Amino acid sequence: MRIYNTLSRRKEEFRPIEEGKISMYVCGPTVYNLIHIGNARPMIVFDTFRRYMTHKGYKVNYVSNFTDVDDKIINKANEENLPSEEISERYIEECKKDMKDMNVMPASTHPKATEEIGGMIEMISRLIDMGYAYATSDGTVYFRTKKFKDYGKLSHKNLDDLESGHRSEGHALKVAGTEEREDDFDFVLWKPKKEGEPAWKSPWGEGRPGWHIECSVMAKKYLGDTIDIHAGGEDLIFPHHENEIAQSEAANGAPFANYWMHNGFLNIDNVKMSKSLGNFFTVRDIAEKYDLNVLRFFMLTAQYRSPLNFSADLMEAAKSGLERISTAVEHLKFLLKNASETALSEDEEKNLEAAKGYETKFDEAMDDDLNTADAISAIFELVKFVNTNVDEKSPAAYLNALKEEIVGLSDILGVKVEKAEELLDADIEALIEERQAARKNKDFKRADEIRDELAAKGIILEDTRQGVKWKRAD
Ligand code: AMP
Ligand code: ZN
Repeated sequence: MRIYNTLSRRKEEFRPIEEGKISMYVCGPTVYNLIHIGNARPMIVFDTFRRYMTHKGYKVNYVSNFTDVDDKIINKANEENLPSEEISERYIEECKKDMKDMNVMPASTHPKATEEIGGMIEMISRLIDMGYAYATSDGTVYFRTKKFKDYGKLSHKNLDDLESGHRSEGHALKVAGTEEREDDFDFVLWKPKKEGEPAWKSPWGEGRPGWHIECSVMAKKYLGDTIDIHAGGEDLIFPHHENEIAQSEAANGAPFANYWMHNGFLNIDNVKMSKSLGNFFTVRDIAEKYDLNVLRFFMLTAQYRSPLNFSADLMEAAKSGLERISTAVEHLKFLLKNASETALSEDEEKNLEAAKGYETKFDEAMDDDLNTADAISAIFELVKFVNTNVDEKSPAAYLNALKEEIVGLSDILGVKVEKAEELLDADIEALIEERQAARKNKDFKRADEIRDELAAKGIILEDTRQGVKWKRAD
């Protein structure tokens, strides 16, 4: 597997710290609103990375945080006249629902900033003790950026250039009222409490953490001082990830992350998505018109580092592309209904070999820095090959192998191409009878299993005086 590492600016062969394992941290959303389709891009691409590496046999420990203390959350809470945690809890739940509908697996751990304040105070104290940070009289703690010699190594910015840039743009180096800040590049680790804001006790007075420190602390706690991969959108490279490196490497005395992966931005009709331009879509907006499986597929039609343009036409194209794959799968299932159990002919054996060739192509694309665009092309080629090489006379084993090939590759991308099997009325009634019998025998485990199995297929049971009634959920 080759990964483009933002740190070295080239593709590198991936070598994990521990054989067969991957520790990965992905910066998650700030939860003050429904997530937008830009936020969905890192969720989908890094979930696909996780699925692919799991498929290759790695055990992936995947941590993604929720930033649940932030100015935007506080503003929203004030607007709605609610406590800030009510806002963040609401949008964490909404985000999880969107993730589920986009088939994004829950992380191994989803830490929340507000539950990790103790660790943050500990790391900030350590940075102060080491001379990397200082508190001012109002209770703000700053990181002493220039003391960290490697500052700028991720974004490939150099402090001298940044400084002259600042000057030439006419920025004053000291902002009025912040005289106690030693330097313009020093960033906040801890902010003092303001009226109406959530606050925690600390050695510097009541206050709340800055944004960057939360990721350094959560990555260390759940994954260790040095992790394999740190990921997020490219807007986070500077200053967020640069600051995370400075905090973590100064405090831990060890490299922070070996590989840095950044997704490109999603634009709308070739312009930046923004509320003020009125071209802003939440994932929920898209869900009104499309199955979110289509959104997932759309996101994967580009390699994750390229910019991705979103438009109504491109979504329609993604929808019909996906239908082409699922139609092929449905056709194979249709042929399978009457297929014979005869042995495969020589030609059919050869065709299965050829189908494996498309899988190799898929793997090669994915191994090249997760090139899902080329991986999807390989699936399309496979579909075309399958469509022209099956008919009513094809044996079941052959049809099944081809179906598994298409479904298997799509599954690695987390894209669903098989329609959920509809249960026939007779099957439902047989299961209900079995459930009644199980209850009579006090086998409640089996009875519950059947209820759950039916529920998963959208069948709702109702116990009435006249017996069990059932209906299909809409
Ligand atoms: P935020 O809630 O703004 O911190 O963003 C959460 C994640 O979404 C980060 O990894 C961002 O880089 C990413 N992100 C935000 N907007 C976009 C966009 N338009 N395209 C791609 N990624 C984005
Ligand atoms: Zn982060």
